[in-house]
Parts: sequence; structure tokens; C-alpha cells
Amino acid sequence: MAAVLPIFRGLRSRTVDHVTMTDRRMTSEEQAVVLAMLAQDFPGSEELRAQVPTAVVTGRCTCGCATIDLRVESAPRAASAPVQNGVLISAHLRDEGSGALLFVEDGYLSCFEVYSVEDEPAALPRPEQLIIESAATRHDDSGS
Ligand SMILES: [Zn+2]
Repeated sequence: MAAVLPIFRGLRSRTVDHVTMTDRRMTSEEQAVVLAMLAQDFPGSEELRAQVPTAVVTGRCTCGCATIDLRVESAPRAASAPVQNGVLISAHLRDEGSGALLFVEDGYLSCFEVYSVEDEPAALPRPEQLIIESAATRHDDSGS
């Protein structure tokens, strides 16, 4: 009778435990920063941005940081995006040892993770703090 929390679904954070919680709407601040992560255009970006208004927060990280698990209701409410599972977008924060990761599962937003190298749990970044490091947009530029 293992009491393991049913929290890890596929690719997920390396560092944190997640707990489920009662679904709630994303706050406007959360929506703004997730939209900022998706600001660039790439195949699937429109679908993912369109998911943000109806995404619900289903879980959070136990450490007190601003990491949130997300669930998006599938069609007809939102279309899936043609992107790979896992970390879709990563960013670091201007002048801080912290960053953010946006996870996608089956074409839908699944987690927005924040992390910090400091002892303090990472707070929700402001959109203007984000410096996008990698994205699904990245073309294969090997050999350049
Ligand atoms: Zn945390």
C-alpha cells in the first residue's frame, strides 16, 4: 500500500515534489507570465496561447515556490499544439539565479515551473524579467 503521491506524470521537474489541489483559475499574473513564455511564434504557438485563458491550476510545488501544474480541457475548448512532450520553453530571469520552464504534454500546457538557486522558493516572475533561452522554435542550426 504505497503512499506515493500520484503526482509525477511523464517528464517533470528534477527537483520538486508536486501536490494536487482543488482546481482553480490561473491568476492574471500567472497568465501574463505564461503568455510571455509563449511570445515567440512557432508551429503550435497560437494553439498554446489560446489555451491560457481556459487553463486551470491543478497542483503546485510543495516547497512554496510559484510552480503550478496546469490542465487544459481539450477540444472543443482548446486545440492541441503540434509540439513535443516535455520542456517546451525555458527562460532565465534577468539578473537572478532563477528561471522558468514551460512543460507541454500531448499538445497541452501541463506545468509552469519556476526554480531558483537561492534558498528562497522562487516567486512568480514578472513577464519583463524573462529571457527566453530555448524554445520549440529553435531550428536545427548544427554545422553553422
Ligand atoms: Zn517549489
